[in-house]
Amino acid sequence: ESVSNKVAAGEVVEKPLNAVKELMENSADAGADSISVEIKEGGLSLIRITDNGRGILKEDLPAAVERFATSKIRDIEDIYSIHSYGFRGEALAAISSVSDFSIMSARNGEGNELRMRFGVPEPLRPAPSVQGTCVTVKDLFRNVPARLKFFGSPQGLEREIIKFVKQFAVFTDGVAVRVKSNSKEVFSAGRDESFLQKAKTALGVDDLAYGEKEYSGVSVRMAASLPTVQRYRRDAMIVAVNGRVVKDAAVVQAVVQAYHRLIPENRYPACAVEIKVRPEDVDVNVHPAKAVVKMLNSRDIFGMVHDCVRDTLDSQKN
Ligand code: ADP
Ligand code: MG
Repeated sequence: ESVSNKVAAGEVVEKPLNAVKELMENSADAGADSISVEIKEGGLSLIRITDNGRGILKEDLPAAVERFATSKIRDIEDIYSIHSYGFRGEALAAISSVSDFSIMSARNGEGNELRMRFGVPEPLRPAPSVQGTCVTVKDLFRNVPARLKFFGSPQGLEREIIKFVKQFAVFTDGVAVRVKSNSKEVFSAGRDESFLQKAKTALGVDDLAYGEKEYSGVSVRMAASLPTVQRYRRDAMIVAVNGRVVKDAAVVQAVVQAYHRLIPENRYPACAVEIKVRPEDVDVNVHPAKAVVKMLNSRDIFGMVHDCVRDTLDSQKN
């Protein structure tokens, strides 16, 4: 079983960034309104995610790191939501098979720790009773040297993690997010920071306008740059579907088209686009790391995104 976890690990956690993403999503799923991220050497030597969410009971801790064990079916009682958010119970099993892993969690005033060293579990131990969960991942992929070789520099890994956390913060309302890298705080977003403010930080652009649209079960909100903002690359366009940051070339294309004639052909805008659809209208399980999603009625959604950009920019003209 440990071997299949290790194989699966390569799909779910391709690099430190994926581990950070999975762990932060777990914290959000647990209802945390404070999530702290700590990394060292771009996540290779340390990733630690601490939240104040609902925590895990002692008897549920061993199952949390088992493959295909998800508590979320019972918690949400909605098979569509389960499917659409990609609750497959794979992340902790994968991460704990390729790292020196610990999960400390307290619920109802009782804390426990489960440690797994490269897939080998140790007996449960009592831990501090601070409400919430703290997952520590050390020496990620040390038992998979072939994978380590493919990573770029720790600085590059660090950059992509910090970039991701800023994007994550944009789409999680009411959650305080902080990141420390190599013992220095590099980013923090307050619980009350607005979507627009967080988008400005994540995109590094101040000239953004806010807009939103809703139609037949689909809602879109966005922070879109004024035409004066022009980028050489498409890397300042971020998209989230149902609260999850995803890569969606079609949504990006809809935005680009909306700027047609407003900015030169070979330049791109900056924007943060959030799409919310009914859980049954989206499938995130088309990609192991859930980075790509498939939406039903996608053509309508692209039309809405396009129109929302136009209206948002028009509203800035007066
Ligand atoms: P999934 O998120 O798909 O259920 P994971 O492997 O990511 O699978 O997590 C397994 C289970 O561990 C979750 O279903 C949840 O019950 C529990 N869990 C993981 N992280 C946390 C957390 N930060 N707070 C509370 N429960 C957690
Ligand atoms: Mg998960």
